[in-house]
Amino acid sequence: MIKFGPSGAGESFYAQGFTKTEQAADWLKDKNIDLFEYSFGRGVNIKDEKAQILKDAFTKANIEISVHAPYYINFANPDDEKAINSVNYVLESAFMARKMGANRIIFHPASQGKEDRTIAVDRTFLRLQNLAEIIKAEGLDDMIFCPETMGKLVQIGTIEEVTRFCQIAPFYVPTVDFGHINAREQGSLKSIEDFKTRIQYMIDKLGFDRVKNFHVHFSKIQYSAKGEVRHLNFDDTIYGPGYEPFIDACIALNVEPHIICESAGNQTEDSMAMKAYYLSKVSL
Ligand SMILES: [Zn+2]
Repeated sequence: MIKFGPSGAGESFYAQGFTKTEQAADWLKDKNIDLFEYSFGRGVNIKDEKAQILKDAFTKANIEISVHAPYYINFANPDDEKAINSVNYVLESAFMARKMGANRIIFHPASQGKEDRTIAVDRTFLRLQNLAEIIKAEGLDDMIFCPETMGKLVQIGTIEEVTRFCQIAPFYVPTVDFGHINAREQGSLKSIEDFKTRIQYMIDKLGFDRVKNFHVHFSKIQYSAKGEVRHLNFDDTIYGPGYEPFIDACIALNVEPHIICESAGNQTEDSMAMKAYYLSKVSL
């Protein structure tokens, strides 16, 4: 089955008076949610004790946690010393993920900066090869590391680039942020076929087994000529992409991704909308 959940609990959770992330476990369980993504966007700054509390709460609720590594990661940084920071952000995220009972680490690969794209992408590839060796040496290779497709043109992370990075090691699995793809390609994702083509490309390059449970970020995203501007809720009618053709494409290709909704506040309600649509399709 495809699994669904929000990135962070969203506005309604806090509006109802909840203050602690562990309270989201039962709150989400009541809504028949399967997944929860915890963001270390501004740093891996939770304590071991809190990690254990989250692990206990979410395990009991039968909700799988994934973690999003810090946003500062840039494996294309020309400075080798600074690139080591990126390695450390991924490792810190993985060690803390393990304490939280999480198995997936999502990370933004790199930014092109003012460099030639090929040079920056090739350097990112080499650094991710090196990271793979470190992941093995640290005994973290039973976890899943998910480089993400990015929404601004200056960021590294087209589907082709992320797929190439994932060819490095079996524990690399794509995070496809379809809102990002749609933003960097000026609204390219409309039909079922548009989504099928992207998913089939990854299957052809990485094999079905690796892609079957790939990671997904889904939200509607406002864009300009340079790509992503900001995340929106599903009530947006201008930018897209719509989730219905995406779910239909997954069903047609028999893939069962972990879909994290990153709507701007309504992520829990929008996850529920996606899941309701999916269930209506598979129970026919
Ligand atoms: Zn991300």
